[in-house]
Amino acid sequence: MSTDTLRFDNKVVIITGAGGGLGKTYALLFASRGAKVVVNDLGGSLAGSGTSNKAADLVVKEIEANGGIAAANYDNIVTNPDGILKTAIDNFGTVHILINNAGILKDSSFAKMSESAFSDVVAVHLEGSFKLTKLCWPYFRNQNYGRIINTASPAGLYGNFGQANYSAAKLGLVGLSETLAKEGFKYNIKCNAIAPIARSRMTENLLPPNILEKLSPNKISPLVAYLGHSSNEITGAIFEVAAGFFGQIRWERSGGVYFKPNDSFTPEAILNKFKDILIFDAGTTQHPKMLNDYNKIYETTSKFEKD
Ligand code: NAD
Repeated sequence: MSTDTLRFDNKVVIITGAGGGLGKTYALLFASRGAKVVVNDLGGSLAGSGTSNKAADLVVKEIEANGGIAAANYDNIVTNPDGILKTAIDNFGTVHILINNAGILKDSSFAKMSESAFSDVVAVHLEGSFKLTKLCWPYFRNQNYGRIINTASPAGLYGNFGQANYSAAKLGLVGLSETLAKEGFKYNIKCNAIAPIARSRMTENLLPPNILEKLSPNKISPLVAYLGHSSNEITGAIFEVAAGFFGQIRWERSGGVYFKPNDSFTPEAILNKFKDILIFDAGTTQHPKMLNDYNKIYETTSKFEKD
């Protein structure tokens, strides 16, 4: 199958934070394959201060110069998400694909992190994604079609020094995606999360040049385009993607230990079994995908006598 088969003619995509970095590569790729693109970016600094129309305007100009269709939007996803949706509706009539990509950094050690550094970062990444998705949701439901890609981060999956705010927001986006995947399923709304690493102003001062040169953001956009396409059936998944690597992340639960009712339920009993609780044995580990997967635990424990 030719890669050009994956086209987006008559599809409308909103991409937040698309004035630079990763979002810009998404905007150019979707537009090159026929999508009508809302290029949102408030044009602020890495920490979120200031505004400028320039970043979004330049991306729209580049798309139009290539023969594509795009509209610029300069609204802040936190304070005016309605304006972003309005740009899509006024220009293109609806929205089919939402890429929640806008983000800021306010890094500091946890000991020094201010409350505002925490809440500002959570506001842009997590609340901003929530607000805009909430506005797009009725359109997705009514047209029985929607694709959402949320931008998580390896920092959210694993934690990272100096990023307590950012990692909390990013793992929050994983939880949001997993729930939207379930609630959107019967409406053909697919919601997935990516955890990328790429060269951008977010990473250019953190990583050495020899690593940065391998981390083109163009190596992330193909997965985002695929997840945004009608042929994608997967939902509620998390993908780690960097430098040409594409992999899926999933939850793994250890085989665990079942205490019988006549065992003593004491901290010392936990101490005695703690090594066993931590064993990830290929034969007994599970990969739960929903809350109901706890039924397996209830079923097993209910085989024991009632305590
Ligand atoms: P970037 O700074 O180049 O892009 C982020 C864009 O979001 C900027 O253009 C900025 O102006 C815009 N923005 C910020 N706050 C906004 C707001 N309130 N409303 C509208 N626009 C806003 O950085 P990037 O690396 O391209 O980051 C894109 C996304 O990828 C972010 O969510 C980031 O956290 C995530 N991410 C990036 C990496 C990486 O290695 N670059 C790693 C993990 C996750």
